[in-house]
Formats: sequence, structure tokens, C-alpha cells
Amino acid sequence: MNETMTVPFISVKPNWKTLKNEILKALGEVVEKGDFILGEFVEDFEKRFAAYCGTRYALGVSSGTTALHLALLALGIGPGDEVITVSNTFIATAEAIHYVGARPIFVDIDRETYTIDCAKIRDRISERTKAILPVHLYGQVCEMDKLLEIAAEYDLKIIEDACQAHGAEYKGKKAGSFGDLACFSFYPTKNLGAIGEAGAILTNNEDLCKKIIMLRNHGQVQKDEHHLIGYNARMSGIQGAALTVKLDYLDRWNAQRRQVANQYNKFLDSFQKIATPVEADYRKHTYHLYVIQCPDGAQLKNRLAREGIDTRQHYPKPIHLQKAFSHLHHEEGSLPITEDVTKRVLSLPMHPGLPSEEIQYVSNAIRKHLSD
Ligand SMILES: *Cc1c(COP(=O)(O)O)cnc(C)c1O
Repeated sequence: MNETMTVPFISVKPNWKTLKNEILKALGEVVEKGDFILGEFVEDFEKRFAAYCGTRYALGVSSGTTALHLALLALGIGPGDEVITVSNTFIATAEAIHYVGARPIFVDIDRETYTIDCAKIRDRISERTKAILPVHLYGQVCEMDKLLEIAAEYDLKIIEDACQAHGAEYKGKKAGSFGDLACFSFYPTKNLGAIGEAGAILTNNEDLCKKIIMLRNHGQVQKDEHHLIGYNARMSGIQGAALTVKLDYLDRWNAQRRQVANQYNKFLDSFQKIATPVEADYRKHTYHLYVIQCPDGAQLKNRLAREGIDTRQHYPKPIHLQKAFSHLHHEEGSLPITEDVTKRVLSLPMHPGLPSEEIQYVSNAIRKHLSD
């Protein structure tokens, strides 16, 4: 019998001494200058992040949820409107649609990539549909060519939920560069994480950019001039400064995540009882999460916990079956693939630099528990 190891799901502490020192130095500059809200450190990050993703503008906001909320507001989506999205995502995606008074229309997903099934979208488009909000789940970009084609055909807007897809690519273009607007979260556990709450909205459209600049700061166009009723949704200076430091590491960390995924694949691919992640054509998956499908995700999670392995399920209960959205009256069975996959998914420990011994230990434990 092997000795039990403890394998955490994720590690958000900067293990790299140099990174910690760089961040502390950057924070020192923010404190020195007292530039705490928006300001030069946020602007600097916005420029770099827009350049990294390949868009004209990036706007720092207070969280990924806020980014989604302001993106919908900027497009004028509101009561009576419908927004097409998926049910297997973090609840914030649907909450943001609810915040503006619109209705989320959930479309089923592709079983292999876990992203929206484009073949099922047309049936769900109505007179009220204003936008599609695809989620690049787990770090894999949706089938963007098809989405853009549908959006053009029905004159719909696209808002990308790229909160899990920093640096992910589709046909050589980065997540966040496809939609009218794209939303990112820098929650500390994301591939690019702040040291607190933060988010961003990307766009190439100058008018939308101007609108979001107002929306995030009380509708202000200049001091004491407010052209609309906005919000306090600003990014803070320390987050901008920390994100600028960490952005330089993003590609390296994503490459390490891909190496971890390759090692898991090597150990698990031949094992019939599970399905390892599929990196679809022309896509570069950045493995925000490494998700397998097995006969019973909750059961395997419990068994692995007894071996000291911390795993999660993303997401064990789809949004259309959550109590919070019971007013939409969705029935069980309405999204068969989403519901089936929900029972099977398990997210294995994943972070850049996850040691090989831990990957092997986790893989062996999975084989053992699914064999008996
Ligand atoms: C993290 C996340 C969000 C919300 O971001 P916050 O910064 O936590 O508000 C929204 N959508 C998805 C898919 C996410 O993973």
C-alpha cells in the first residue's frame, strides 16, 4: 500500500520568490503614489491586456460578474429581452442576465468540449433574442466561426464569457477578441488572478468603450458631469499593478498547465472508464480546469478525498435546476446533455507546476477506485 499524499486542488500562493518580490514592489509604487482607484496602474494594465488579447480596448472593472453586467447594459439589453447562453457555467453568467431584467435562454452543450452546441442555437432564437453569451468553459474557446455566422444571420450581439479562458486560442486568435464585448474575471484562482477581486471588459468598439467608462464610474463623463446612471464598478490600483506583473507570466503558466494536462492524459487516456479532455480542432486549451468524465463524479470525488486528493465538480448542479432560477420553470430533462455531463464531471487538481508525482498519484488513485 502506498503512503497517502495530500494533493490540493489549487495553489494561489506565488511559489516563486521573484514573483512575490515583484508584486510587493509594484504595490509599494501604488502606495507611494496614492493612485488607488483606476488611474495609471489600471490604465497600464488595460493597455497591456488589450494588446495581449488583440483588441483595441480593455477596461478594468471590479469583478468578472460586474464585467458581464456592464457588458449587457452597454448593449442596451434589458427587460423583455432574451440572451442565449448555457446552463453549465458559473452562476454569475446567468445572474448578470437577470440583473438587467433579461431572460437567460439555456442551450444544451457539446458533450466533448462542454461548450455551447451551435447546432441547437437557431431553434432557440426568437423575436426577443438580443445576444448570445457563449462561455469558454474550463479554458477552451467555443466554436467561434459558427457563433459569429449565427450572430450575423440574426443580427445578434456576442458577449464572450472569457472568465476561464485567459490566453486560450481559436484559429490563432485569443479568447476575448471575437465578440462585440468580452468579459474576464481576475478572481485569484483564474489563470490570470489578481490579489483580490477584479475583472475586465474587452472591445474594439469605441462607442461601447465610452459607454462602459461611464457605466463603471457613476455615469461620469468628467468631474461633476453625469450622463447616465452608472455604478461603482472600478478596478483598484493595486489590482492593476499586480495584474501587470502577473500578465508577463501568463503564457509560461498556461504552458505549464498544458504540460500538466498532457501528463494526466498520458496516465489516463488508455483507461476506458473515463474520458479525458478533448482539445477541439484549431483550439488551444489553457486548462483553467482539467475535467474528466467518469461514471459518477460525486462518488469518485469522495473516494479520492479519502486518499488525500482534493477535487471539485464544475458544476454539480446546472443553473436551470438551481432554486435561484426556479422562476424560469425549467424541468429536469430539458437539457439532457448538460444534465448528464453534470453527474459525470470531475475537476482534478490543476495549477502550473503541479508536481509529476502528484499527477501520477492522482491518476493511480483514479484507476484503483474505478477498477474495484
Ligand atoms: C469566475 C467566473 C465568473 C465571475 O467572475 P468573478 O470575478 O468571480 O465575479 C463568471 N463566469 C465564469 C464562467 C467564471 O468562471
